[in-house]
Amino acid sequence: MSEVEQVVSPANDRFNRPLKDLRVSVTDRCNFRCVYCMPKSVFKKGYKFLPKSELLTFEEIEQVVCAAADLGVTKIRLTGGEPLLRRDLEHLISKIRGVDGITDISMTTNASLMTRDRAHSLRDAGLQRLNVSLDAMDDETFMKVNDVDVTVQAVLDGIEHAAQANFESLKINMVVKKGLNDQSILPMARFFHGTGQILRFIEFMDVGNSNAWNLSHVTTSQEIADLINAELPITPAKANYRGEVAKRWEYLDGGGEIGIISSVSDPFCGDCSRARLSATGSIYTCLFASSGHDMRPSLRTGDVNAVRDELNKLWFVRADRYSETRTQVSIIRPKVEMSFIGG
Ligand code: SAM
Repeated sequence: MSEVEQVVSPANDRFNRPLKDLRVSVTDRCNFRCVYCMPKSVFKKGYKFLPKSELLTFEEIEQVVCAAADLGVTKIRLTGGEPLLRRDLEHLISKIRGVDGITDISMTTNASLMTRDRAHSLRDAGLQRLNVSLDAMDDETFMKVNDVDVTVQAVLDGIEHAAQANFESLKINMVVKKGLNDQSILPMARFFHGTGQILRFIEFMDVGNSNAWNLSHVTTSQEIADLINAELPITPAKANYRGEVAKRWEYLDGGGEIGIISSVSDPFCGDCSRARLSATGSIYTCLFASSGHDMRPSLRTGDVNAVRDELNKLWFVRADRYSETRTQVSIIRPKVEMSFIGG
C-alpha cells in the first residue's frame, strides 16, 4: 500500500459524488470574442487580462494534478480562454503525462491556431483527445458568433490538421443559441455525418454574467434531436460510462453518432465529478460558482500532501447542484466567467 493510501482516503462529496475529472484553465485570454462567452462589450480593448506573473506555472499545475490524481482523478482537460495561446503547452502536457494515475489528457480549443506542426507536437507530447468548438458552417453566422472575422475554413483546417495527427478522439462542439445560430444545426449535422468526427450540441447556458442569458435563447435537446431526426433519423444510444455529459444518438443509416448536452433542460449534476482549476490557481467545484478557493498558499509550500489534503477537504464539503436548482434568483447572482475557468 502506498503512503498516500495510508494517510488519505479520497472523499466523496455531500451527494456521494467522487472527484474524477480536473479541468485546467491555462489562460484567461482568447483570440475569439464569442458573443455568448466573451462579448466585446465587456472584453473590449483595454480589458485587463491576467499578467503572466499571475498565471500558475506549469510546475504548480503539475502539483495540483498530482494531488488530484492521489484523490482519484484520472482525466485532465486543458482549456481556457484559448489554450493554444499559452506558450509551450507541450511541456505541460508531457509533465501531466508523467503523473501516476492520469490516463486521459484532452483539450478544448477553437482550433483556429491549430497548425499541422502544432497538432503533431501536441499529440507527440501526450495529448490524447481533442474537442473543437465550431458554431456554424457558414461564414456569415460564424463571424457573427466569434466576432473577430475568423472563417469556418480556418477552423476546418485546424480540424484537418488534428485529424492527421491521429488523436484518439476528435469531437466537435457546437453551442446553440436560439436566434443566433440555431439555423446551423442541420448544416452542421450534414457536414459531420459519416466523417467519424462526433458532433455534439450544447444548450446555451447561463454561465458568467456577461452574456445576457435568457431561457428563451435556449434551443432544447429535444428540439435539436427532433430537427435532426426529421432529416437524418437517429436513435438513442447507451452512455459509454456513468456521468457522460452528452446523451448519445446514433444515425440509423450507420453515419456515426451525435451527442447532445442538455445542461439546462435536463441537468446532470447528480453525476458531476468535475473540479476546475483557474489559470490563477483557484479551484471551482461548479461551473456556475460565484467564487473559487485559492490554492496558491498551499501550492507555495511545495508540499504536495498539503495540496492534496486541501483539495480533499474542498471536495468533502461540496454540495453544488446549480443546474438542478436554477431559479430566476440564482440566474442573476454573480458567477465566474466561463472564459476564466474554461468549458
Ligand atoms: N477557447 C476554447 C474553445 O473555444 O473551445 C476553450 C474555452 S471555451 C470557454 C469552452 C467551451 O465553452 C466552448 O465550446 C464554448 O463554446 C463553450 N461555452 C462558452 N460559453 C458558453 C455558454 N454560455 N453556454 C454553453 N457553452 C458555452
